[in-house]
Amino acid sequence: MKKCQTCGAVQVQNDVRCAQCGVFYPTLAELLAAEEFYEEQKTFKGFLKRVWGAETIKQGLGAEFKAFKAGLSNTALLSLYVIAAFVFALLVTVI
Ligand SMILES: [Zn+2]
Repeated sequence: MKKCQTCGAVQVQNDVRCAQCGVFYPTLAELLAAEEFYEEQKTFKGFLKRVWGAETIKQGLGAEFKAFKAGLSNTALLSLYVIAAFVFALLVTVI
């Protein structure tokens, strides 16, 4: 039994809009397009599209880096900093 995504009323089969709140139900094509869009966000192609779509490449990369950082937990972020510091320390002692 499907329910309206907006108000939660039970969806009558083959109805194009909700009898309760009047919102139009998404069509299969819309759902598929949304799914495709969501899937593409996670791929490298989606990443390139976002960077390319930004005003400048630099802005696009900056936004991507922020999103990447926001997706990391504090522990993961700390690990990355420790690794960077370790590599830096190694380079300094070698050079
Ligand atoms: Zn509704």
